[in-house]
Amino acid sequence: DPGSAPPERTAEAALRPRRLDEFVGQQVVREQLSLVLDGAAGRGRSPEHMLLSGPPGLGKTTLAMIIAAELGAPLRITSGPAIQHAGDLAAILSSLDEGEVLFLDEIHRLARPAEEMLYIAMEDFRVDVVVGKGVGATSIPLDLPPFTVVGATTRAGLLPAPLRDRFGFIGHLDFYAPEELREVVRRSAVRLEEDLEEEAGVEIASRARGTPRIANRLLRRVRDWAQVKGDGRLDLAAAKEALRVYEVDDRGLDRLDRAVLGALCRRFAGGPVGLSTLAVAVGEETETVETMVEPYLVREGFLLRTPRGRAAAPAAWTHLGLEAPEGGGG
Ligand code: ADP
Repeated sequence: DPGSAPPERTAEAALRPRRLDEFVGQQVVREQLSLVLDGAAGRGRSPEHMLLSGPPGLGKTTLAMIIAAELGAPLRITSGPAIQHAGDLAAILSSLDEGEVLFLDEIHRLARPAEEMLYIAMEDFRVDVVVGKGVGATSIPLDLPPFTVVGATTRAGLLPAPLRDRFGFIGHLDFYAPEELREVVRRSAVRLEEDLEEEAGVEIASRARGTPRIANRLLRRVRDWAQVKGDGRLDLAAAKEALRVYEVDDRGLDRLDRAVLGALCRRFAGGPVGLSTLAVAVGEETETVETMVEPYLVREGFLLRTPRGRAAAPAAWTHLGLEAPEGGGG
């Protein structure tokens, strides 16, 4: 993800569930996945390719790791943007071991030639390796051992049909309910060997934007606050103060969320306005606004996606303490 620094990743890795039964929530996807895995295990074969879609921080990478662990298979991790040329992908594919799980994060960002190579490899377990340059170049087909691609995307709709069709299973991850996030932070506190008070856990869970990654991050910030400014106890007061310091409001919205809503209401009179114009107004990349900010604002009823652009819902004006214009504003 953009903005996720390496130390933050290490802290995150320490909190990852390792088995399917430790993975909180996402009942539907978990049940579907366990059938795919058990079915394949029963047949003694590699399972079909799997695609996981949903907003960042909901557990796609975690599930890919769990899939490999449940299969007892090695895991190779890479991402669409990391593969610059088809040759990079050919190198990865031709070095896969039998049964290996290849996790491809942000698979919708693969370049076209790599994408075409990938779906041939997924379908026929074959890759064409180009040897030599210019007129003398020849393409040598290379058979691959059976392997399983686990793709992750924030936008399944963006995948071209030929690629999407190669996946035997597509799981859609949705935002978590507060009770589920409460369970996530409860388990994380145990891993961190912290005594998290019930009310503090509830507070963190209800302000984590439906996202386990954010819930765990808030938990660590509350721990910092308790240690540095408080008396070391992770109680409701520590949770409230830490959330105030980090500018997380009572609906769980952060600075960027409020900046987007603020721009929409103040600068564009509630819209509708095009996504890229809105992104420029808050100084962010279009993709960041589209994948990290919008889904939650839409789901909470603050923002509307209309054919003519993004518009502020009445709740956005209320939340910002603004008066909605007469007969407009979305
Ligand atoms: P994504 O790949 O979808 O962006 P990750 O799999 O990296 O999300 O999840 C982010 C963090 O959130 C992980 O480090 C993990 O600790 C936590 N997490 C995600 N989903 C769950 C879950 N269902 N149960 C417990 N923790 C979770």
